[in-house]
Amino acid sequence: MEEWIRANLLELSDASGFRFSLCCSVCGRVWVSETTPFSGIGRRQTARSRALYEREREEAMSRAVSEALRGFEVCLLCGKITGKECLEALGEMTVCRSCAERLKKQL
Ligand SMILES: [Zn+2]
Ligand SMILES: [Zn+2]
Repeated sequence: MEEWIRANLLELSDASGFRFSLCCSVCGRVWVSETTPFSGIGRRQTARSRALYEREREEAMSRAVSEALRGFEVCLLCGKITGKECLEALGEMTVCRSCAERLKKQL
């Protein structure tokens, strides 16, 4: 699930810091992570500062993923990124609202 969230994160980072966003595919709510400032801000672009940027970007991304996991889940049926507000418990399973509605109709 972490991998899937990571793959769906939208990156809003720029030269000064790292920021990621994730959107609930059911209601469209957009969540934006805290901004992590890049420690090498304003430094000359060198291979070294680029490597530093990449490393800090990876770390910021992992933090954003764990932050996102508190507010989002992946629907077990359709695999959509779903905000906690749009999840429904269906027996043992937790699924997104659209799957829950579809299943209820089938029953
Ligand atoms: Zn939602
Ligand atoms: Zn679903």
